[in-house]
Amino acid sequence: MTKNILRLVLGVVFLVILLQVQMSSFSTAGTTDFSNFNFKEYLNKPCVALTFDDGPHQIFTQEILAILKAAGAKATFFVVGKQVKLFPDLLKDIAASGNEIGNHTYHHLNLTTLSPQEVQEEIKSNEVLIKQVTGMDPRYFRPPGGHYNANVVDIAREDGEDMALWSITSNDTDRPTVDYICKRVLLNVENKSIILMHSGVQQTLEALPILIRELKKKGFSLVTLSELDEGGPKS
Ligand SMILES: [Zn+2]
Repeated sequence: MTKNILRLVLGVVFLVILLQVQMSSFSTAGTTDFSNFNFKEYLNKPCVALTFDDGPHQIFTQEILAILKAAGAKATFFVVGKQVKLFPDLLKDIAASGNEIGNHTYHHLNLTTLSPQEVQEEIKSNEVLIKQVTGMDPRYFRPPGGHYNANVVDIAREDGEDMALWSITSNDTDRPTVDYICKRVLLNVENKSIILMHSGVQQTLEALPILIRELKKKGFSLVTLSELDEGGPKS
């Protein structure tokens, strides 16, 4: 009985010492104070992904990159192989800027009209080219015009790429006004929206700074598709 009490007392003393050591090491090593940090708010910070298709574009890609950089925003560029072949340095610039590169096939054809072999060639040849130029393997694939069938999805997946469509289109290829593009996006945006825009449209370029400013005002972080899938910005 006495032995048991002694064991209990020793156990409590040991625990108290252990706790003190833990606390002192935490307070000396830890300079970060998490007492007021709202983890829930941080983890739930709403994000949107801007995506720019059909580039690299001879003039607009650099301008889009500059706007994104100035605003501290990131986006995803779905590039077309025949454009990459013309402007490989622009693809390198996209990669170097920390924006994401997605596969938008080599010739930008409607994949539902092609044979499985042709679909594979369209996806694979662009993937190989992107890797050659940037050293990176695209994680996402977007079918031109959003045209796909089960075959297309399977072939992309076999190639290690997930199909990524969009939840809001800016309809920018119809060349609407800047005001239309902004309203269409801002009135429909929600957490994890994926916004479709294009690299070669003047109105898109003019709408972009306004869109970024207003999306930020609404509390959204502008992230790449990978970051959107992983729950938030990496930096
Ligand atoms: Zn396209």
